[in-house]
Amino acid sequence: MAKVPSTRFPLQSFLPSRAVVMARRTLTKTAKRATPSPTESTSAKPDNDSFDAIALDLKDCTRCKLCKQGRSQIVLGEGNPKARLMFVGEAPGEQEDTEGRPFVGRSGQLLDKMIEAIGLTRADVFIANIVKCRPPENRNPEPDEIETCSPYLHRQLEIVKPEIILALGKFASQTLLQTETRISDLRGTFQNYRGAKLMPTFHPAYLLRNPSSKKDAWTDWQTVAKELKLKIPNIKNSAPQ
Ligand code: SF4
Repeated sequence: MAKVPSTRFPLQSFLPSRAVVMARRTLTKTAKRATPSPTESTSAKPDNDSFDAIALDLKDCTRCKLCKQGRSQIVLGEGNPKARLMFVGEAPGEQEDTEGRPFVGRSGQLLDKMIEAIGLTRADVFIANIVKCRPPENRNPEPDEIETCSPYLHRQLEIVKPEIILALGKFASQTLLQTETRISDLRGTFQNYRGAKLMPTFHPAYLLRNPSSKKDAWTDWQTVAKELKLKIPNIKNSAPQ
C-alpha cells in the first residue's frame, strides 16, 4: 500500500542551516493548491516557483503509471538550494523508495565518496532524479514516464540554477540534452543545458558493475572540480572505490 508522504524534514538534523532539503513535505496552509489531474500539463510552472510549490504539485502524484507500480513514496531530491553543482540521476531504487531520499543505496555510497573526494559534501550540492518514483524491479524508466516527470526536474534546475550539472548516466544525459547519443560518446565534454555547463558521466550504479570505467568517470569529475575552481588538497589520481 502506498505510504502517505512523510511530513517530517528528514535531513534537518544533520545538514547545516544553509542547506535546505528539497524533500520537505510540510506545506503552509496559504500555499495549498489542488493536485492537478493526470492529464493536466506538467510543464507549466507558476511564477516565483519554489521547492514547496513543486512538492505540492507532486503530492500523491498519479500522472504516470509509476504511481501504481509499487512506489512507497515520491523521492523529490535534496540538498543546497543554491548549489553550484547539481547531480541528476535516473530514478529512485529500493533503498531510496524506502527512505524517501535520493542516492542512499550502494550507488549513493559511491556517489558520497566521489563528492567528498572533490572536497564537497552532500550539504554543498543538490541531488535529484529524472523520475521521482521507483520503477518496479529497478527497471529503466520508460519514455512516457520520463516525459511526464522530467518537467519537475527542469523546474528544480531552474530554481537551483547550478553552474554545473553532473548528469549521471544515459537517462539523465539524454533527457537533459534531448539526444540519443550514447553516454560513452557524450561523457567527458561539457555540454550546454539552458546556459549551464552539463557534464555527462557514468552512473555510480554502472561504475559498481563496471569498475574499469571508474577511471574515465573520475576524469569527468576532476574536470568538473577544476571548472568550479574547487580547492582540493591532495586530490586523488584514481577514483574512490
Ligand atoms: S514518476 Fe513523477 S509523474 Fe510519475 S507518478 Fe511519480 S511523481 Fe508523478
